[in-house]
Amino acid sequence: MIKKRFLFKVTAVLMCICCVFSTMLFSSPVYSVDEELEDLQNQYNELQKQIDKNQKELKEVQGDISNTKTKLNVLNSEISSINSQIGILDSRIGVLNNRINGLEADITKTNGEITDIEANIEAVNGQLDEAKSLMQDTREQLLGRIRENYMSGDASTIEMLFSSTDLSSYFARKELMTRVSENDAALMKDVEDKIKTLNDLEKQLDEEKTALNQKNEELEAQKTDLDSKKADENASRAEQQAKKSTVTSKQAEVVTMLNELDKESAEYKATIKRQRAEQEQLSRQIDAYIKEHGSSVGDTPDAAYENDGNMAWPVKFQSYVSCAYGRYSDGSPHWGMDICAVGGNTRGRPFNAAQGGKVILAVNDGNWNYGFGNYCVIDHGDGKQTLYAHSDNIQVYVGQIVKKGQQIGVVGATGNVTGPHLHFEVRIKNADGSVSRVNPANYVRNTTA
Ligand SMILES: [Zn+2]
Repeated sequence: MIKKRFLFKVTAVLMCICCVFSTMLFSSPVYSVDEELEDLQNQYNELQKQIDKNQKELKEVQGDISNTKTKLNVLNSEISSINSQIGILDSRIGVLNNRINGLEADITKTNGEITDIEANIEAVNGQLDEAKSLMQDTREQLLGRIRENYMSGDASTIEMLFSSTDLSSYFARKELMTRVSENDAALMKDVEDKIKTLNDLEKQLDEEKTALNQKNEELEAQKTDLDSKKADENASRAEQQAKKSTVTSKQAEVVTMLNELDKESAEYKATIKRQRAEQEQLSRQIDAYIKEHGSSVGDTPDAAYENDGNMAWPVKFQSYVSCAYGRYSDGSPHWGMDICAVGGNTRGRPFNAAQGGKVILAVNDGNWNYGFGNYCVIDHGDGKQTLYAHSDNIQVYVGQIVKKGQQIGVVGATGNVTGPHLHFEVRIKNADGSVSRVNPANYVRNTTA
C-alpha cells in the first residue's frame, strides 16, 4: 500500500516537474540567487571563517599549554629531587646529632668521674696528712722514750740515735728497733704501711684522672669533628633550600602562566561553541528557507553548470541501495536513498555530483547536523537540488560550480548512521514554491552494476 501511494505521489511529482521543465524551457527566465538565502549563506561562511581562525588560535594556545606543562613537569621533578636531597641531608644531620648527643653524654659522664676522682684524691690527701701527723706524733713519743733511756744511761742508743740522719734510716737499724717496745714498733709499722697504701692510692687515682682527662680530650676532639661535619651538612642543606625556593618561585610563575593559558583556552572553546550554535541556527534557517522557497527562483540552468537534464548515479561502482526512499524499517520517513557496498566497505570511496550545478551548502565540521553529519547541497539551476550526506570529507565549497560526475566528497559515516553509506536526496521546487524531497530512484539509474 505504501509503495502504491508513493508511486502515485512520484508520478504526480514527475508530471509536475515536466510542467516546470516545459515552462522553463519556453520562458527561459534569468537565473538569480535569492538575496535572503545568499545573505544567510554569507553569514554562515563568515562564521565558519571565524571558527577556523579561533580554532587555529586555540590550537596555538593548546600548544603553549603542552609546552608549559612540560616545563612544569621539569620543575616538579627538580623540586622532588631537591626534596630528596634535603631528606638525605636531614637524616645525616639527625645521625650526627645523635652521635654528638652521645658524645656530650659521655663527656658529662667522664667529667663526673673526674670530679669523683678529684674528691677521692682530696680525701686521700687528707688521710695522708692525718697519717703524716700521726707519724710525727709517734716519732715524738719515741724520741721522748729514747731520751728517757738516755737519762738512764744507755749510751749506745744515744749514739745510734744521733748518728741517724732521718727517721727512716733510724728505723732501718735493727739494733735500735729492738730497743723500742714491741708496741711502738707495731704502731710505726702500721703508720708506715698506711702512708704507703695512701700514696699508692693517690698515685692510682692520679693515673685514673689522667686517663679520664685524656679520654675527655679524645671525646672533645671527636665532638669538634662531628660539629664541623654537621656545619658542612647544614651548609649543604641551606644551599638546597635556597635552590628549592628559586625553583618553587619559578614553578609558581609557570602555574600562573598555565592557569592563564587554561583560561584563554576555555574562552576560545566557549567562543567556538557559541559560534557553532549560531551556525547551527543559520543552517536550520537555510534549510527551512530552501524547504519553503527552493534554492532559487525562476530557475534555469546556468550554462556553466553543464546541466544536461539527466542525473548520474552518484557513487561509481557501488550499486547497493541499503535503504530506499520512503520509510525506514521502523516506519519513520526516509527522504533519500542510501547507497553502500555489498559485503564490502564503501567508506572513503568518492561520490560525484549527479548533475552540474552550484554548491549552496557545504558543511564539513563533523557535527551531527540534523543527522546528516558532513553534507552538501547542489542547486542544479533547473528547480532541482541534490543532497549528499554522512560524508567523511566534503570536498566542495559554497558557491563552487561543479560539473556532472565531478567528485565532491568521500563516503563516510558521520551523523545518524549505523555504517558508512551515502544518503542521497533529490529536492524539487513545487508549483507553490515549496520544496519536496522526492524519490531519487526516479532521477538516477544505477549504471555501474
Ligand atoms: Zn538515508
